[in-house]
Parts: sequence; C-alpha cells; structure tokens
Amino acid sequence: MAKLEKIFGYLSRSMIADYLDTDITYMKGVGPKRAEIFKKEFGIRTFRDLLYYFPYRYVDRSRFYSVDELNKDLPYVQLKGKFISLELQKIGANKKKLVGTFTDNTGVVEVVWFQGIDWISKSVNRDKTYILFGKPSEFSGRINIVHPEMEELSKWQSKPQVTLAPQYSTTEQSKSSYINSKTFQMLLASLIPNIHGRVLETLPHYIIEKYKLLSLENTLCQLHFPENTEMLRQAQYRIKFEELFVIQLNIQKAKLHRHSTVRGFVFDRSKDNYLKECFHKKIPFKMTGAQTRVLQEIRADVCSGRQMNRLLQGDVGSGKTLVALLTMLMAVDNGYQACLMVPTEVLAQQHYRSLSKMLDGIGVSIRLLTGSTKQRERTEIDRGLRDGSLNILVGTHALIEETVVFKNLGMAVIDEQHRFGVEQRAKLWKKNELAPHILVMTATPIPRTLAMTLYGDLDVSVIDELPKGRSKIITRHFTDAYRLKVYGFMRKQIEEGHQVYVVYPLISESENTDLKDLEDGYDRITREFPIPQYHVAVVHGRMKPDQKELGMSLFERNNAQIMVATTVIEVGVDVPNATVMVIESAERFGLSQLHQLRGRVGRGSAQSYCILMTKPNLSENAYSRISTMVNSTDGFEISETDLKLRGPGDMEGKQQSGFAFDLKMASLSQDGQLIQYVRDIANEILDADPALEKQENQLLVKALKELNKNKINYGSIS
Ligand code: ADP
Ligand code: MG
Repeated sequence: MAKLEKIFGYLSRSMIADYLDTDITYMKGVGPKRAEIFKKEFGIRTFRDLLYYFPYRYVDRSRFYSVDELNKDLPYVQLKGKFISLELQKIGANKKKLVGTFTDNTGVVEVVWFQGIDWISKSVNRDKTYILFGKPSEFSGRINIVHPEMEELSKWQSKPQVTLAPQYSTTEQSKSSYINSKTFQMLLASLIPNIHGRVLETLPHYIIEKYKLLSLENTLCQLHFPENTEMLRQAQYRIKFEELFVIQLNIQKAKLHRHSTVRGFVFDRSKDNYLKECFHKKIPFKMTGAQTRVLQEIRADVCSGRQMNRLLQGDVGSGKTLVALLTMLMAVDNGYQACLMVPTEVLAQQHYRSLSKMLDGIGVSIRLLTGSTKQRERTEIDRGLRDGSLNILVGTHALIEETVVFKNLGMAVIDEQHRFGVEQRAKLWKKNELAPHILVMTATPIPRTLAMTLYGDLDVSVIDELPKGRSKIITRHFTDAYRLKVYGFMRKQIEEGHQVYVVYPLISESENTDLKDLEDGYDRITREFPIPQYHVAVVHGRMKPDQKELGMSLFERNNAQIMVATTVIEVGVDVPNATVMVIESAERFGLSQLHQLRGRVGRGSAQSYCILMTKPNLSENAYSRISTMVNSTDGFEISETDLKLRGPGDMEGKQQSGFAFDLKMASLSQDGQLIQYVRDIANEILDADPALEKQENQLLVKALKELNKNKINYGSIS
C-alpha cells in the first residue's frame, strides 16, 4: 500500500512537473516562429520560464486621465471617450497613417496608427465610447498617442477588471513580430488559471510558515495579476527572500564545509625568528592597533590546522603591506616559501624595493618576477624556487604561469585582489598539493552587503584605523578656468619641498586620444615648470617596463618634483613626500578609482591635497561622484555611494565571484537588511542540520544544486 502510494505520488508529481516544462511552442497563440523569438529575445523556452518572466512595473488601471491633463512625460495613461473623426493621411510615396481625433469633452488628442489601418477604420464606431490605453508622446508640438490598446466600453465592462496591469519589457525585435507587453499579458492570463496545483513549492513548508511567506503558486499569480498592492508587495518579498536566502545558504554552507574539512599547513609561532628580527630591527614605527589585531587573526588561522582563506580589507594607506610582510615571514620561519602577487609591474617593483629594504641583512631571500624579467634571472629564480633557497617571490601575473614551480609554497598573498579574476587566483592555490594559506588584500572597501554575498565564505579582517599623525586630505574641485591658480598652488608646495602627482585618465591603454591628453598635459606642465628649477617624470602604461621604472624611481628619490602619469599609479605606489594629487578630467573616473588615486597622497605627516579638475558642465552622476569625493574621505562611505550610483553588477563582475547569480528581483544595493536577515536564517538552519540531511531540508538541497549548476568550480575559493 505504502509502496503504491509512493509510486503514484511520484507519478503524479512528475506529471505536475511536466506541465510547466512544456515547450512554449505548444501554448495557444505561440507556435514555432514566435517560440523562436521568445527564446532568443527573452530566454523563454517553457511555461515555467514564462511564469518567471516578471512584469517590470504595474499600471493603475482604476484611474482615468482626462485629455487636458496629458503631456509627453506621463507614462501609460487610460482615457475614456469617443472618436470625432478618423482620417487616412499619406506619408511618403506608398505609406499611409490613420489619424483619429479622440475627445472626452475636456479636449482632443490625436491617436495614430501605422499598421492595421484597414481593420481599425472599418471597426471603429463614432457613436460608441472607447477605453484607450497608451503612452502620450509629442509630435510637431502636439500630444498624440500611437498604437494604443483600445476596447469598446461595454465590452470592457463585461470583463473582470484588473486594477494593477502588469507591464512586461519587450525588445524592438520582439515588437516587430507583434510580441509586446499586451502579448505577455494575454499569454499569462491564459496560463495562470491552469497552474493551480501544478507549481511545485521550492521552499520547505516550515520556512514558509515560520517566515510568513506566500506559497510559490500564489506568489506567481500575484506577481502577474496582483489582487492589490499589499499582495503584490508580499509576492515580491517572497521572491527576494528566496533569491537571497538560497545564495546565503550556499555561502554559509561552503564556509562550514571549508572550516571542517580543508586542511592547511600548521605554523608554529615558537619558530618566529625572522619575524621577530624584522619586527624589532627594521620597522621604524609602532604598529596600529588594527594591524596588530589583524596579525593575531592571521596567526590564529595559520596555527589552526585549517587552510587560511582570508580577505583583508583596509583603506588606502592603512598599512596592509606590513601585514603582508609579517604574514609571509610566518611561513618562512616555518620552512615554507611565500609569494606576493600584485596586479601591475609598477606596483610589483615598488613592493619589491620596499620589502627588500625591510628584509635587508636578516637573511631572508626575496626576488622579483614579472613579464619583463630577463631569461638569465629567471633561470636563477626557478632554481631558487625549486630547491627552496628562495624564500619570498614578489611579482605580477607571471607568478601563476605553469613554469613557476615552488618547492613548498606555504603562503600566498594577493594585493589589490579585485584586479584579479577568480581563475587567476585559483591557479596560485594549485601550486601545491595542499593548498597554501591565502591572504587576499583589497583597498577597495566593499560594502558589507556585497562582501557578504561575494566573499561570504572568506573570513574577513578589516584594518579600520590609519597610522597616527596622518592629517585628513583636503579635497577641492576646480574647473579649467582655475588652472593657473592650481599651478600656483603646486609651485608653493614644491617650494616647501613636497612633490606632486598629475594624473590623466587612460581608460584603455590603446586609446590614442587619451594618450594625447597626457602628452599635451606633459608639454604644458614642462612649460610651466621648466628645467633646471623643476624636473618632471612621466609614467604611462605604453612605456617599456624599464622606462616606467626609471620614471618611478626619479620620483621616489625626489629627483623629480612632479609625476605626470596615467592610472598605472592608481594602486599601491608609496611616496610619502608627495602631498598633492591633481586629477585631470576627474569626471571620467569612477568613485573607487578617484579614492584610490587620492590615497597616493597623505602618506606622510604633512597636510595633503587632492585637486579634482573637471570641465564646467557635469552630468548629475559625475557631479555626485565629485561632491562625494570633496565631502568624504571614508572609503566605506564612498563605496556605498559607488554601489548606489553604479549598481552592484558593475562593481564586482560575476566572473570575480566565480558565481553566476542572476537576481531577478532582489538588489544587493537596496536589500541589505534582508541579506542580513536571511543569512541569520541560513546559519540557524545549518546549526541544526549542518549537512542538510533532514527530510524537511531536501528542497533546500535541490535549490543549492540548481544554484551551483552554473558555478565554475575553482576548488576551495569563493
Ligand atoms: P596600503 O594599505 O595602502 O597598502 P601601505 O602598506 O602602502 O598602505 O602603507 C602606507 C604607508 O604607511 C607606508 O609608507 C607605510 O610604511 C606606512 N605605515 C604602515 N604602517 C604604519 C604604522 N603603523 N605607522 C606609521 N606608518 C605606517
Ligand atoms: Mg598597498
């Protein structure tokens, strides 16, 4: 008996599933040709896909506008009235349009058709009242409505009234095949009554009960044809909840798994010899409280037997390099090798120079490997890496090439990690059989909600304190008209012994016009600041590495007072004597880039300045960016604003997280509170059932499987 029930249960379940899996071709009014368009334009293949194609907004159909209220800025409007006349007009050689004059006694408005002319002119009856629904637009100074939906009043009254009419976004291609918002409405209106009892719930019953969610079936009905605004809100909430909850469950589960299974090298702190020596002999300042705390967190990880997988966030200038150095020394002290990977050649050279200085005379060997390392040097480096005599390797992407083989890599640090894709990072992990400990560092503070979603399974440390004695950078905005004043200010700072950066946008290294801006700028600066009194260095991405290095070292040694550069200096460059950052065409930079650039000054004790030069008339968005910079120096605040201005998709690409999530309704920038809420729920569930083995959680297992279907598997990283 029980068995039979099982079989029948299974059968009817699979039949239910089948219905929504039906190919859209078989829907009444679709057919193969239109199905092709649904597939191509909207990714809709099945009934289920259609159900999940949600309206992008709803129009209140209980409201009628009067003709005298109309203007071209109104969205869709509904009118009630009669046609006074219908007139066929010629446009061009063999094209015609039909123009109707429509009135509701408050005024007249033109209604225009380019298609279906014959049918409309035959069927419209001037004695009858019609309901029109369309978008007002303006044509040679007059308001008209092109191709409205139209229905005769008595017919309209005989149908059930929808108050919130769903609007579906469509494309030019779909519209030219007569698939518009109305088509979606009609198809869904015929599909919805048939889904009753056929939508399989995707969340466990106890979750729906406990968190007072609508059932999936009701949710789908309400989303397409809401009973009222409250039901619509609840339906939208259910979808957002589910989207974010499943993502958080996935992340928290992965984290749990990593913590409990992935082994890591165990470092013993009693072996700290190099670390102590470096710390006591080489570091000229006291560590900040935040640096000390972060080092303790790292220490706890590397002693735990688990593999460290930690993200270190710290604003520009907060002293991450020192943390990286001491962390690498923990590995070296325990007989392992360490590496530091950075995104640009300039930065690699800079790190190499400063780390070499701090390791000088201690007995730790360090080398630099980049794309331009000479073959002879490379051979030496390879040998040192293989026999273990080379302790620390600093470099660019060159580090992840397959030919780079370590004897025993115990610690990999990645600076400015947002510049690397997941795949690149993963290659580093695989340099050993047992994955090395990983520390990824970023100066682009990621807003909490985004971090929770993208890096949720990394442990996060934050340096939230700048070294003492730094004064706040003063930021000012000027237009070109004030250029001479700005030069005057630069002169004064240079007289006081300080140095100045002048940065030009170089959005693409191959963009010739950008390069010309920089060259013109350089000419102008050298005229304003002539030799022998002044020396101007220049660095840009198109230069050969040794030229770049020459330019950088001139500036670092204060042999040049001015550095004209592109954004190659955006990350990491550290010249504490520089006090002025002039950013040309600042409106062309994104917020996080501006913040990074500004972070190049204010690294010493002298008051520093950031000057944003822009053209006079800025777009609203550009103006927001500039004024955010003028008003705030807080990296987290800036990144929150950035997220709002740009939206999350742009900030951290999907490839970055290795995780192809596609949010239909929830928003990482707007649903922060909900993200926090569902994360707590996910953890509560995992506390009770860490492997999700309970019967009641099987739907969740299925949801995770579905989510991870598209995930690129890079092993133990997020
Ligand atoms: P970032 O976090 O941007 O990588 P850096 O590591 O380049 O910052 O450090 C910025 C500057 O601050 C460097 O000149 C560094 O030597 C200095 N610095 C780092 N830690 C301290 C500290 N505790 N006290 C004083 N100066 C410090
Ligand atoms: Mg740095």
